[in-house]
Amino acid sequence: MRSTMQNVPLLTSRIIEYAGRVYPGSEVVTWGADGPRRTSFADIANDCRRLANALRVLGVEGDQRVGTFMWNNAEHLELYLGVPASGAVLHTINIRLFPQQMVYVVNHAEDRVIFVDNSLAQPFSALLAHTPLVKHVVVNGPVPPEVRQALAGDGEREVHDYRELLDAQSDTFDWPVLDENDGALMCYTSGTTGNPKGVVYSHRSNLLHATFCAGAGALSLSQSARALAIVPLFHANSWGLAYASMMSGASVIMPDRFLQPEPLVKMISSEKVTCGGAVPTIMTGVLEYLDAHPEADVSSMKDVIVGGSACPPALMHAFHERHGVTLLHGWGMTETSPLGTVAIPPVGLDEEEHWRYRHTQGRLALHVEARLVGADGSEQPWDGTSVGEVEVRGPWITASYYRDDDAASLEKFDDGWLRTGDIGSLTPDGYLTISDRAKDVIKSGGEWISSIDLENALMGHPKVHEASVVGVPDDKWGERPLAVVVGVPDDVPGVEELREFLLTKVARWQVPERWAFVTEVPKTSVGKFDKKVLRAQYAEGALP
Ligand code: ADP
Repeated sequence: MRSTMQNVPLLTSRIIEYAGRVYPGSEVVTWGADGPRRTSFADIANDCRRLANALRVLGVEGDQRVGTFMWNNAEHLELYLGVPASGAVLHTINIRLFPQQMVYVVNHAEDRVIFVDNSLAQPFSALLAHTPLVKHVVVNGPVPPEVRQALAGDGEREVHDYRELLDAQSDTFDWPVLDENDGALMCYTSGTTGNPKGVVYSHRSNLLHATFCAGAGALSLSQSARALAIVPLFHANSWGLAYASMMSGASVIMPDRFLQPEPLVKMISSEKVTCGGAVPTIMTGVLEYLDAHPEADVSSMKDVIVGGSACPPALMHAFHERHGVTLLHGWGMTETSPLGTVAIPPVGLDEEEHWRYRHTQGRLALHVEARLVGADGSEQPWDGTSVGEVEVRGPWITASYYRDDDAASLEKFDDGWLRTGDIGSLTPDGYLTISDRAKDVIKSGGEWISSIDLENALMGHPKVHEASVVGVPDDKWGERPLAVVVGVPDDVPGVEELREFLLTKVARWQVPERWAFVTEVPKTSVGKFDKKVLRAQYAEGALP
C-alpha cells in the first residue's frame, strides 16, 4: 500500500521562506573591523530572492555551478541558501588550498560565476588567468580600481558589486520545484592523495543532515541559541551549522576573517554566544587566551561541537573545569556531510563513565549506519574493543565522487558502503572511537600504535601546547613514532620529562624515541595537523 502522505520534496528554498517568516527577528551578525553588522533573517530571505533574480540576469541556468571564495559572513550565508534554492549548485571553494588546487577545483566544477570577498579579491584575481569558464566575478564590498581591473582581465569577465547587483533586483521570486535528490552544494575534500575530490550534497541530504545537527542528538538549537560559526562554510558544509541555525531560529555569529583567539573571545562575550563549531586547534588557542585573560566573560557559552580531528581529552576537561564549556566531540568527513556521530553520553552515568563516553568520537546518528571491517575482511563485533575500518552508509553519505575517473577511488566504496579510511571500534550501544586514520597508524614490529592516543596523552602534559605524532622508517621495527611537540612559551618540556609522563599513560614499547621540538606544527587547509608534511620533513627521523 502507498502512504496517503503528500509527496513534497525537501528543498533549500523551504529554509529561506520558513526562516524569513517564522523567525524574522533572529539575526546574522557579521564581525568587522568597524564593529558587528546585523542582518535579520527577514532581510536574509529578501536578499536570497534578489540573489536568485540576479543569477538569472547573469545567465545562470539549470544546475550551473556558482563558486564562492569567501569568509563566513552574512553574504556568504545568503549565497549558501539562495544559490541552491534557485536550482544552481553552490561550490564553496576552500580559500586555503594551494593555488594549483584552487584552479583545479574551479575548472573541475566548471564554475561560471564566482562571488569573492573584497578582502580576498586580490589573491583570487591571480587564479583567473587559468579558469577560462568563469565569466562573472561578483565582489562583496568595495575594491580599488586596480583590483577590479585584475578581476576583469582583458575584458574576459564582467565584474559586479554584490550589493549593487542585488539592489537592482526585485525581492520576490518563485522558487523552482526541484527534485530533492538534485545537487545543491559541493565541497572538495583535501584528505585524499592526488587531486581534491568533489562531493555533491543534495537538497534532501542537506535538510536531513541539518535537522540532525539542530536536534537533541547534537546542538539542541532553538530561537534562544546564538551559534558562532567558526568552522568555515567551505569546510564540509560548515558541519550543518548554518542551515541548522536558520531552521531553528538560532541567531548566527559569523567571524568573517577575524579567526584569532582575541576577536573570537570578544564575539563570545559581546554577542552572548551559546554554542558553536570549530576544529580542536582553534579551541586550543581560545583556551590559552581565556586562561591568560581571566576577566573575559564566556559564561553564555554552553556547547561547542569539536571535530575534524581528534579532540584531546585534556582540552575538553580544561574547558569544562575552567570555563564551564562543553566541547561536544563529533566525527565525520566531507564525504559524510559531515556529521556521523556526536558524543552526547547516555543519561544516568557516574562521572567516570560519563567522561568515558565524552572522550569517544560519539554516538551514531539515526541515519548513519556503521560497520567495522577487520584486516581479513570480516565484520567485527560492537564490543568496545574489536577494531576495524569504519564503513558507513546513509542518506547523507556520498556514494561516489563528482566526475572522478581515478581508479583508486573505487576502493573507497564497498557494496553500497563508504570506506572511511578510519580505524575504530564501536561500543554495544553505538558509540564510535577512532584510533587512527589507516594511513596515520604506526606499524611497529607487527603491532599498531595509535598516533591519536599518543597525541592525546602528550597534550595532557601541562607544558605541551600541541603535539603531533607520525610514523618514521626504522631499520629494526619497520616504523617507529616520532613526536613533534610545541611547548608552552618559556617552559618547553624536555624529552626525559615527556617520556616519563607517557610511561604513566601508554605501554612502554609505544613511547617514542624520536622527538622534535618546534614552534608550530604545520596545519592543513582546514586547520588539522599536516602529517603529510611532517612525514616528509622527518623521514630521516629526528633528535633523541
Ligand atoms: P580533510 O579530508 O580535508 O582533512 P575532512 O574533514 O573530510 O577533511 O576529514 C575527515 C577525516 O578527519 C576523517 O576521516 C577522520 O580521519 C578525521 N576526523 C574527523 N573528525 C574526527 C574526530 N572527532 N576524531 C578523529 N578524527 C576525526
